[in-house]
Amino acid sequence: MAKARAPRRTLDSYTVKGINKTIRAGDCVLMRPTDSSKPSYVAKVEKIESDSRGGNVKVHVRWYYRPEESLGGRRQFHGSKEVFLSDHYDVQSADTVEGKCTVHSFKSYTKLDAVGNEDFFCRFDYNSSTGAFNPDRVAVYCKCEMPYNPDDLMVQCEGCSDWFHPVCIDMTPEEAKRLDHFFCHSCSSEEQKKLQNSHAASRHSDTKEKQVHNLLFNC
Ligand SMILES: [Zn+2]
Ligand SMILES: [Zn+2]
Repeated sequence: MAKARAPRRTLDSYTVKGINKTIRAGDCVLMRPTDSSKPSYVAKVEKIESDSRGGNVKVHVRWYYRPEESLGGRRQFHGSKEVFLSDHYDVQSADTVEGKCTVHSFKSYTKLDAVGNEDFFCRFDYNSSTGAFNPDRVAVYCKCEMPYNPDDLMVQCEGCSDWFHPVCIDMTPEEAKRLDHFFCHSCSSEEQKKLQNSHAASRHSDTKEKQVHNLLFNC
């Protein structure tokens, strides 16, 4: 006859053996991958449980996907530390936790003075069965109309406030870093027109957006 399942206890915190770090629900953690050649998995701890004697500790996690693990794969605009909050939940042994990490919002990530090994950022929720992203639209910049990759240097035009990749405006990153002022091609011709005609209307630029799906599957 099958034994009745022992009742499980919910733990407020658990100190992971080996790394001596205390984890709690809500923490973001790195977990040992089944394939040791792969980078650590990134997850959010939802709940920590043990058996009635406090042993066999398991963590209920919600996975973050790396771009290469998503249906659309990794693209040029994805940051090296970018992860997507998925709808994929799992239960894992608590001792596969390798360490804690921080998943920042996109905005706070771009403001970090230094990015450590444990810093990641997330700007999209990801549906692991349909491959859909939320939000499904993203702001795009430059002549190439791509979302911002925080790993890549961009320069801002003082006319239209759009951001440009040096390579897209025929500049080396070194040249771009030395710039004190930058006007993009269309704004520098506007500047010329303005000098000739003082009634020229000031240029307004609306942030352009693109469908994330199109960025991933139509190019
Ligand atoms: Zn560009
Ligand atoms: Zn401009």
